[in-house]
Amino acid sequence: MENPGSKRRLYRPVNSPTAPRYSGIRTFMRLPYVTDLEGVDFAIVGVPFDTGGTYRVGSRFAPSAIRDESFLLKPYNPALEINIFDECSGVDYGDLPTIPGYLPEAHKLIEESAADVFKSGATPVFLGGDHSVSLPLLRAAAAKYGPLALVHFDSHNDIHQGYFGGKDTHGTPIRRAMEENLIDPANSSQIGIRGSLYEASVAGEAAEAGLQVLTAVEIHRRGLAWVIETVRARVGERLAYLTFDIDFVDPASAPGTGTPVVGGFNSAQCLELVRGLAGLNFVGYDLVEVLPAYDPAGITSLLAAGLVYEFISLIAIARRCNQ
Ligand code: MN
Ligand code: MN
Repeated sequence: MENPGSKRRLYRPVNSPTAPRYSGIRTFMRLPYVTDLEGVDFAIVGVPFDTGGTYRVGSRFAPSAIRDESFLLKPYNPALEINIFDECSGVDYGDLPTIPGYLPEAHKLIEESAADVFKSGATPVFLGGDHSVSLPLLRAAAAKYGPLALVHFDSHNDIHQGYFGGKDTHGTPIRRAMEENLIDPANSSQIGIRGSLYEASVAGEAAEAGLQVLTAVEIHRRGLAWVIETVRARVGERLAYLTFDIDFVDPASAPGTGTPVVGGFNSAQCLELVRGLAGLNFVGYDLVEVLPAYDPAGITSLLAAGLVYEFISLIAIARRCNQ
């Protein structure tokens, strides 16, 4: 934790015995709202944009909903045996600027403002937003780090060419990321793919493009340990980016999303999979497609907050290992 050569700032959550958990400004995990990222190890960053949605919309409200469900999270993660704030200084950076209804313009703004976050050296955890936001986020990440290994949790491949005559939606970011050489398919995995398709040939498209595809059917048969081993081998030592579309989760555990697909995974399975990726070299994370209007009991946002907690636990483990 000590690093006398730098201006290290020890940002951490509000201490609960001094202020009730439901009080104060609604930041993630009650972290301080800070926009100067000097000396910061990780930043929670909202991306409240849902113009890329092709079915239900409303994920623009997800960053605030996820923050609202994060207040019971505590610094020590017993499953990973790490106290996040013994290793890390973490902040809530607030939300990136967007322009609702204007996708290309908004993506440009998101890319430029995300670039500032990556430049700072803090590891970002972005809260979408629909999945289209991962494209400008990956552009910003790859501008700094070069092509990345992608670990992609989703029920969909998101490799469509376009929709309705338009180019970019939440169903296209992985296609664009490959076209623009933002990710290296040879080190990238798509996990949890399932659901009905327009025709048989669509099932093979992602693998033909060079991506590793672990379908939900296969995962249910072969188990989580197999997934973890397979993805770790695929990514290896490469710098990587993790994108988690909440529709990876079964609709019973995550009803609040735009394009739900049955036959998914429960909350415990999701947490175990993310924990199993500890030690991989992630330079950034995003959690997308939470749609609070379809989430009456808040369980989708609650799980999203829990997943973000596991992401920042992985950041803390990486930081501990690098000291
Ligand atoms: Mn999806
Ligand atoms: Mn998606």
